[in-house]
Amino acid sequence: MADGIGRVRFMDAQRVNLDGFATEDARLGMIAYDSPADPAPSLVVRDGRVVEMDGRAEADFDSIDEFIARHGLDLDVAGEAMALDDLAYARMLVDPSVPRAELVRLAAGMTPAKLAAPLGLLRPAELMIAMTKVRARRTPSNQAHVTNRLDDPLLLAADAATAAAFGFRELETTVPVLDDAPSNALAVTLGSVVGAAGVLVQCSVEEALELELGMRGFVSYAETVSLYGTHEVFVDGDDTPWSKALLASAYASRGVKMRVTSGGGAEALMGGAQGYSMFYLEARCVALARAIGAQGVQNGGIDSASVAASVPKGVRSLTAENLMVMLRNLESCSGNDALMSESEMRRTARTLPTLLAGSDFICSGFGSIQRFDNMFGPSNLNAEDIDDFLAIQRDWGVDGGLRTADTAELEHLRRRAAQVARDVYAWFGLADYTDQQVELAVDAAGSKDLGATDTLAVLNAAHTIKTSGLTGLDVVSALEQCGYPDEARRLLDMLAARVSGDYLQTAAIFDEQMNVLSLVTDPNDYLGPGTGYEPTPGRQAEIDAIRQQRSVDDLRRAQDDSEEFARFAVVGQASAGTAAGEVVIGLSPAVGRAISRTLSGLTVSEVLAEVLAGLEEEGCTARLVRINDSIDLGSIGLKAARLAGSGIGIGLQAKGTALIHRRDLSPLANLELYSVAPTIGRADYRLLGVNAGRHAKGATPDPARNPYSDEAIEARYHTRVVALVAIERSLTTGGGPEELRWKGER
Ligand code: CA
Repeated sequence: MADGIGRVRFMDAQRVNLDGFATEDARLGMIAYDSPADPAPSLVVRDGRVVEMDGRAEADFDSIDEFIARHGLDLDVAGEAMALDDLAYARMLVDPSVPRAELVRLAAGMTPAKLAAPLGLLRPAELMIAMTKVRARRTPSNQAHVTNRLDDPLLLAADAATAAAFGFRELETTVPVLDDAPSNALAVTLGSVVGAAGVLVQCSVEEALELELGMRGFVSYAETVSLYGTHEVFVDGDDTPWSKALLASAYASRGVKMRVTSGGGAEALMGGAQGYSMFYLEARCVALARAIGAQGVQNGGIDSASVAASVPKGVRSLTAENLMVMLRNLESCSGNDALMSESEMRRTARTLPTLLAGSDFICSGFGSIQRFDNMFGPSNLNAEDIDDFLAIQRDWGVDGGLRTADTAELEHLRRRAAQVARDVYAWFGLADYTDQQVELAVDAAGSKDLGATDTLAVLNAAHTIKTSGLTGLDVVSALEQCGYPDEARRLLDMLAARVSGDYLQTAAIFDEQMNVLSLVTDPNDYLGPGTGYEPTPGRQAEIDAIRQQRSVDDLRRAQDDSEEFARFAVVGQASAGTAAGEVVIGLSPAVGRAISRTLSGLTVSEVLAEVLAGLEEEGCTARLVRINDSIDLGSIGLKAARLAGSGIGIGLQAKGTALIHRRDLSPLANLELYSVAPTIGRADYRLLGVNAGRHAKGATPDPARNPYSDEAIEARYHTRVVALVAIERSLTTGGGPEELRWKGER
């Protein structure tokens, strides 16, 4: 016998058990909240100078303490804020009468440990209410990864346009091959301006190159400037808070939007958590982000999301990290980035609260491309999940920043983006691509569909961009010269926006009319029910109108099959038969008129052919009678039985549900029921005919059993059933039964 019992072996085989789950271990930092090493909050200010913070005296400050103490605290409110009871502040976070501004004002005076404490008291639903209230921007948005394993520029451009069409307002790329970076930045930028106006673009690479790409106008935001919660891990990356602050200033000075990246679990992953909890270390990172002048933070489930998710309350702490960013008055780019589980349920459960609460960016990296092409590593959500996400937005009536892209428009945009990329690359002498390569990129669902590509050509193009001194303005000019004036205009607008600098405000994005939506121009005004962001009617219609929705009229058109309907002709009013071996097949009102196919995909005629063949095998004769005063299958079957010489009737609805009835039974008691129409195939209908024949002869049939199935039968078919039943109902005339003649193909 195999190990253990089958029930447990079965559970072990489920995908969730591929995930790693860790025993809580504070020494390793494998603890979400409240490690024994976490300090009690404290702040001592002497002569306007912080001399003790979170239990540590000035002399013992590490670089992170030092930077936060000097630049990260509003000492004017620190006295009031540090004296606040944790529970009192926690209650303020969910109290509709306390406005966001008051919470943010107080948080500015709180040390990392002090701000962590009340957030650790919030339950999940309370975290969501607080996020709804405290995020900076009123209008939620979403961010996409646009990458591919080959760094193919035509595919990058087509996929960037696609992501923009789905509504993503920030697109970021990265490279499997560092030297390809300038080409990727250009390709995604070109695709973005084809897809929509005002889309921000990042190319995440080594910091000096990334800054250079920003300064030259190839990208419009930067995000992967990493912060860590312990000095030890921070300096491992050859960095200090001061070097990060310099970088933040450098971006701001060139009008490039910039945020930093951190996230619980990173320090534990690098063996440098020093015994602190993930949430406390993240509190230090977020305070530092504020101190160095970044406008936002990408956290809550970045590279180390699965580390955080491996410990108790870890997923909750990821959401609390996002709220902490909001309370520091920074833009929250809310994780949901790295794929944190092999379990569909766990990864969905991880993202859902963010989507429902709303955030500046619901995902700090929704993989708009397939998992295998996501060069950041698979995201928690990827191209595989876009339709799911759109359906979930619609289910809950919330704005997750995405919309359904019209399929014809998508093809048009992908082709234009690939052509723009080809033409601009040719214009600069970067690379020559053929029409066939353009078409492959248009059609490709991922880089595997491109066939063999010339990756050296990409490397050469990137090298030329890097060394030639090309700038964003040159790209504008090339677009104009190549005959793409609209795209040239959009790119020029993005470059001009750097000069005005409005999009350097906290949480700034552009809408598609190039209006800046930020903490300043679109501040979150949620104060309880009836307030705050609500999609406009137009936006709500975008959320609701997913491409898979169908109306009764759509179904009616799909069922309209004149050839099938022509097989049925009315002979006249049906009368009772007398032949001993006669079985009557009672049909629902829509048979031969409006419904041609059953839920299993067979035509009604194909079903009848099987049933009749089964009856014939048993030596029975059959008549067809359409019941016009009922759509109830029991009633249809019973009426048929009462007309049959044998007293045995078959009831068949046009959607495929069937039963065998006998004239002396009550309507709801029948002999055999074939109820799960989508799973009933030809062999089952044949058996139905055979069994009806045996009942007619007084023999003993072997009843049919439902086949094994784990399909979500109701999800798949019930909307169709509603429409089909409505059609049946509309054809119920109340008239008596009609005998039909049917022309089969047998
Ligand atoms: Ca990101």
